[in-house]
Amino acid sequence: MTQTARNSIILTLALGVLTIVCTFSLWFVSPPSPDPDHPFNTDAAVARLTRILGDERPHSVDTDANDAVRERLLTEIRSLGFDPIVRDDFRCTAHFGGICARVQNVMFWAVPPTDDTAQGVALMSHYDSVPAGPGAGDDGAGVAVGLEIARIIKGRDDMRPVLVLITDGEEIGLLGAESFVYSDPLAARIDSVVNVEARGVRGPISMFQTSSPNGNDVAALAKSGRTALANTLSSDIYDAMPNDTDLSRFLDNDAPRQIDGTNFAFILGDSFYHTPGDNLTNLDRSTVFHSGVNALASVESFASRPMSSAPEGTRLYFDVLTRGVISVPAWSGLAIILLSGLLSVAGLVRTGTWRGWRGWALLPAAVIAAGLGAVALSVALGAVKSSGAYSPAHPWALRGALSAIAILIATVIAMILRGRDGDQVGPLLKSWLWLSVLGGVGWILFPGSVTIFIAALFVASAAMVAALLKKNRLAINISILAMFVFGLVNLPMPGFALAALGGMAAPFAALWAIPAALLVIVIPTEKKRGLPLVSLGGLTAALILAVLILPTYTENAPRGLTIRHIASGAGNFVQLSGRAEPPQVMMESGRSSSDGPYTYSNLLEATIPAFTRDRWTRPTTTTPDILARVEVISDTVSTESRSLRLRLIAPTADRLHLAPALADAMWTTLSVNGESVVPSRWGLRIAGRTTRDMTIDITLDANQPLGQIAITRFGLGEDIAPIAAARPDWMMPRQEGDARVLLLDLDAAISAQP
Ligand SMILES: [Zn+2]
Repeated sequence: MTQTARNSIILTLALGVLTIVCTFSLWFVSPPSPDPDHPFNTDAAVARLTRILGDERPHSVDTDANDAVRERLLTEIRSLGFDPIVRDDFRCTAHFGGICARVQNVMFWAVPPTDDTAQGVALMSHYDSVPAGPGAGDDGAGVAVGLEIARIIKGRDDMRPVLVLITDGEEIGLLGAESFVYSDPLAARIDSVVNVEARGVRGPISMFQTSSPNGNDVAALAKSGRTALANTLSSDIYDAMPNDTDLSRFLDNDAPRQIDGTNFAFILGDSFYHTPGDNLTNLDRSTVFHSGVNALASVESFASRPMSSAPEGTRLYFDVLTRGVISVPAWSGLAIILLSGLLSVAGLVRTGTWRGWRGWALLPAAVIAAGLGAVALSVALGAVKSSGAYSPAHPWALRGALSAIAILIATVIAMILRGRDGDQVGPLLKSWLWLSVLGGVGWILFPGSVTIFIAALFVASAAMVAALLKKNRLAINISILAMFVFGLVNLPMPGFALAALGGMAAPFAALWAIPAALLVIVIPTEKKRGLPLVSLGGLTAALILAVLILPTYTENAPRGLTIRHIASGAGNFVQLSGRAEPPQVMMESGRSSSDGPYTYSNLLEATIPAFTRDRWTRPTTTTPDILARVEVISDTVSTESRSLRLRLIAPTADRLHLAPALADAMWTTLSVNGESVVPSRWGLRIAGRTTRDMTIDITLDANQPLGQIAITRFGLGEDIAPIAAARPDWMMPRQEGDARVLLLDLDAAISAQP
């Protein structure tokens, strides 16, 4: 066999292995099985959670079901030998357009303070769920982790105080956390917070947010066992997104005090997020263990830290397949980029290989074309699959198809541009220089992104030195090592980006163009290119076919579909809300001959933002059973303004949304049960039993319409039950879940009163 023929086989194998490793990339970061020798006892933690969740009924803030969960939680805390505190607070927030609810945070000192001023760590989770599901992952797992860590550290005298803080009302708008940060006397005793959250039911735990600067937080990452997924880039991306957890209130710029914080969450299996499927059956025990190990390490680090006054630095950090974390001072990222850039320029000059446009064009052309190819494929698959290209039931297939197309395109381009003069060092140095440039641009635009490049560039710097010494073979071998490091550091990222961002994350596949292009450079295959191209093409086609033929949704990865039975001034309606057209079986079920057909429309005549969107809606003759009446206690009109005091009585209500009639007909002032709220055009939402009998004070310009109220009662009546029964098992209600809603025009409701 000739050298070229042998290289052709080697390149085929290398590209094939790269594609398959990318396809199954998340397997390499699977959470570890519970370790019986580790102090964190997963079985005990899950058994405790099982007792707390009881019949696994959804238990949103201020409901009877949440009272029951809290009572069982308090029993577990007491049986561990701790003294729980319950803080009862009626809280209104100006965030999210305005939300009020009664919240009851639960907290206890796992390691009590030894004096009245000692500061310590809060280990935070939340016990409320969304109305649609039992929240075994979100955030039952966090509660279970908190209690098990409390058991482990109980009686430790080598730690600063540790408060286990289990908030309420997180799901409606972080109300428990806001109550703690802004009005709890114990908040002044907290200087560090470890939050444990979930957006799914399985997968490795990731540390996706720190406080800023992050030096102490990065130092608190687990040093032994399997660390969390963590890198500066994903925390930068998180910070740029509108998502929130309880930790957001601690990190507010106007929070009464600054804290150190780490935020943990697992996000795989997110089709079950905020659905009935977020239950104990689906919650992965390895995920609970991985969360426990890392939260414990973080608490121990924060709690054992001597109170130093040294300024906290800013670090760049990244995990290596959860087997360890590398962290360097932020300035050294720029130093590595500049140094490697200078060394590759010097190498190019010294070896005389700086000429030749093909070598210069190779890497950028490969990366850009691969990124465009992945985006085009994602869009095409999304159009064909009608449900978006993101494939929740078989994410490996989409991950594989996007990686494969990127690798195939990069290979073709690198083969075309590689040149036929046999020079490998020139194209290699030019490619490394491009990565330094990309890193530099990243540093300016999105500093965390340099963690993609710095480990590989650090290793590649040795290749550049070898090139300077004219040791070409050595330079090539070190480049291969640097490429391997690049793969190791970045392997899970495109897959997690797909899980977190869906099809929007397709451009991340372009990362794989880099090792693919470098492989083509270091394994010369002139004239023997059929084998790698045909093999890679076949693999790509097979993966695309897999995306096309595998079901997008299954009972283990269901699509959201929520049923609402609504009464409004325009009549009674059934609404099926989800992203795509509901299945025919649901459209036909529970529809009497006098009921109209579904249309994708908005027939409600609502002004409340949540009800103004088009959805699959049909008129119905049945009325949702919600009782409500509005009493006018006082109504004072002057020439310019009108002040009303209303009493709203709705004994079956679970939630209420009060909104001004028009964005330009805003109320001047608004208060609920004496708590004043900043009026917003999104209206005010009130959760829980408060809605059953409350006093509302409104002032507004005279002659303005008052606005609308939507009163929600969770669940459906008997009359609508057949529609829910017809929902296939690959669909589940989400968020607020199936519900009855009464839309009331306030002016009409008032004039209807005797
Ligand atoms: Zn949560």
